[in-house]
Amino acid sequence: MSLHRVNKPHRWETTANIPNSAGAEAQQSKRKRRPKKKAKKKAEAQALHNEQMLAAQREEIRPRRIKSPKIMLPGPKPTDEYLNAAAQDFYVVDPPRRMLVILDLNGALVHRPDNNPRKTVPRPFLAPFLDFLFDNFCVMVWSSARPQNVARMVDSVLPPKHRSGLVARWDRSHFKLTPEHYAQNVQVYKDLNLVWTAESIQPQPSDADDVVRWDQSNTILVDDTALKAQGQPYNLVEIPEFTNTPAQQGCDILREVASYLQTARMQVDVSRFIKNYPFKADGTWKFDWPDDLANVPVAGMEPLHPTPRYE
Ligand SMILES: [Mg+2]
Repeated sequence: MSLHRVNKPHRWETTANIPNSAGAEAQQSKRKRRPKKKAKKKAEAQALHNEQMLAAQREEIRPRRIKSPKIMLPGPKPTDEYLNAAAQDFYVVDPPRRMLVILDLNGALVHRPDNNPRKTVPRPFLAPFLDFLFDNFCVMVWSSARPQNVARMVDSVLPPKHRSGLVARWDRSHFKLTPEHYAQNVQVYKDLNLVWTAESIQPQPSDADDVVRWDQSNTILVDDTALKAQGQPYNLVEIPEFTNTPAQQGCDILREVASYLQTARMQVDVSRFIKNYPFKADGTWKFDWPDDLANVPVAGMEPLHPTPRYE
């Protein structure tokens, strides 16, 4: 047998006669298969590389923000007057009185991946939940995000008909923070006294009821952080934080929150009711909304996760 160099570099050819046996055929077919495997591996490696390059480019465009540790500021404490009022007996009034629901955004109604204000993932059942709220309550938004980010979230979450119906749209500038704290990652507190003393958002007189001011008896804060409501703990409906986990997609708890609020709005004083029956997402309360309402798009947004199929 002799070997000689052929035209193409690094290739060698044999002049030996290889018998055309079954073994040789098997070898031949192995040789044929090998390049396919190699090509597949190469394509996979290339796809991974492309993905990594794209991810790196994205990071270059929007570097990941590293949050500084939270600075704990002293918060408001409930007054004796507040605690005494919440300790009174609760009872139902019919027809229900007007109530104000104050909505948190991030972690309550939406999830912002990597805290990116341009991306908002709506909580399942958000569309029917908002319709229920605006049909039955006065609604305002209060988020600790900066004004421009709150504006973006509100635009992506609330359809125009609801946006125009908001009592108020409060943001970070409504916490009475010093300029230094405004720029820092500080613990903020939603002190409802700020709402109850803001003249511009008080209810207009109505023939339907005698509500002339928002106060302890008719204000409900829906938030995923109990600490934020430490000044008026019995006006809080605390809901689990929404982080768009697989378990939260397609089901989750806004059906339960709506059912709880339906009972709360019948109360003479909502703080008395919440003190005795704080909201728990354990199935006690649940509207009979069908599962396929979970991902109805809000404000023209496409659903960001598919409706799960139950087979
Ligand atoms: Mg939140």
